[in-house]
Amino acid sequence: MMNRTFETDREKVLDGVLSVESILEYFLQRIASENGRINAFIDVDTGAREAARRVDVSLAEGTDLPLAGMIVGVKDVLAREGKPLSCASNMLAGFTSVFTATAVERLEAQGAVVIGRTNCDEFAMGSSNENSIHGPARNPHDTDRVCGGSSGGSAAAVAAGLCHVALGSDTGGSVRQPAAFCGTIGLKPTYGRISRSGLVAFASSLDCVGPIANTVGDVAAAMQFMAGHDPKDATSSVNEVPNYRGGLPDPGTLRVGIPNEYFADDLPTSILRAVEQSKGRLKEAGVEFDEVSLPNTPLGVSTYYILACAEASSNLARYDGVRYGSRSSVSQTDEANGIADFYARNRTAGFGEEVKRRLMLGTYVLSAGYYDKYYARAQAARRLIKNDFDKVFESVDVLLTPVTPTTAYPIGTRKDRVLETYQEDIFTVTANLAGIPAISVPIGTDDEGLPVGVQLLSHHFNERSLLALAGELLSESNKR
Ligand code: GLN
Repeated sequence: MMNRTFETDREKVLDGVLSVESILEYFLQRIASENGRINAFIDVDTGAREAARRVDVSLAEGTDLPLAGMIVGVKDVLAREGKPLSCASNMLAGFTSVFTATAVERLEAQGAVVIGRTNCDEFAMGSSNENSIHGPARNPHDTDRVCGGSSGGSAAAVAAGLCHVALGSDTGGSVRQPAAFCGTIGLKPTYGRISRSGLVAFASSLDCVGPIANTVGDVAAAMQFMAGHDPKDATSSVNEVPNYRGGLPDPGTLRVGIPNEYFADDLPTSILRAVEQSKGRLKEAGVEFDEVSLPNTPLGVSTYYILACAEASSNLARYDGVRYGSRSSVSQTDEANGIADFYARNRTAGFGEEVKRRLMLGTYVLSAGYYDKYYARAQAARRLIKNDFDKVFESVDVLLTPVTPTTAYPIGTRKDRVLETYQEDIFTVTANLAGIPAISVPIGTDDEGLPVGVQLLSHHFNERSLLALAGELLSESNKR
């Protein structure tokens, strides 16, 4: 089945051939028939039909709504006013948001309709969507396998044709890795390009909102309206938003580097083959290639996990059962032994195992006596990684690498292999540490028919070159 795209549906809406409501109905039916199998959506938005009707009325009145017809899934870490928000955690069970995330608000303002909340790992911590109180979302290509994470439900929903676009968040690969596992496109923009207001904080210096879709055009359409300065996020960039939807650089003018640190000897041939194929396609389009080096890449995973856990331990301190988060029944029925005990009981009951592991790790690396040894050193390593990128982008425009060291693995097989799973983030975390944009593009399948992706990275605010090359990789002539 070919998934519907916003690009083609939009034209039909503008021609008056399709109503937004009918497009929404189509996707609601898709969810009704397919979601039981893949668990990508955790709910369907009760207000979606009404929102779609409102867009149809506005269009009939002549209002220009460039995203009319776009049906969007929203990862359950983005706030929407009056709607539940759980971060796939017991801690926020029953919580309702009082405001809407800027990224979502901006899409809705242009006519997009939110169809529901997508599954994810608890507080976006994970790579397989198995750390979710809603149960794992499953890979549409093989439902015994993971769909990746943490934005697993978003990628699975798009891959299964349950919405045009889904929003994810990417702190260390959570948009790109599930996109690769599910055979969709995922863009992690430059840090600060899209406002984080309303995105539940995991690691604030790394968190980015990013779109997942089946075509470069749909990714670009969502980016176009989400990007831009927002007074509600002090780290959002004031740089002008360029045109992502047209006038992209000619691939023939771009130089692409292949960083040798991203190609360990034990990478599966399917992944090496995808990179080789991509290189071949881009060469045909006139792209020139260079071998380059990013020598500090091996520091990426440990640096990321120290910094991400440290920031998480601070960000998630607010969930104590008083300011935010649920109170455990134990702390209500049984006299708690002081306030610290009261917090501890609520946090013990509310958080899942992986979140607790990270909060303890984060608290440890920030504690007096260890701060210099871990946190300060990780900050220094982050600088080295960023310097590596700055240096290579003096000679090349874009880098081509794998996204993941494996394709989608069977659900339940990584449970006791925590560190190994962390290691598998090696190709994605560096972009977050450096704040640069990166895109995951689906390139064929492995011998078992599972999707394989490649990653393109560029310097700050150069999403346009990523979209141009992704478009080239996915152009009709290349779909053989
Ligand atoms: N897999 C990484 C982690 O578990 C990335 C998570 C993310 O980007 N939100 O931290």
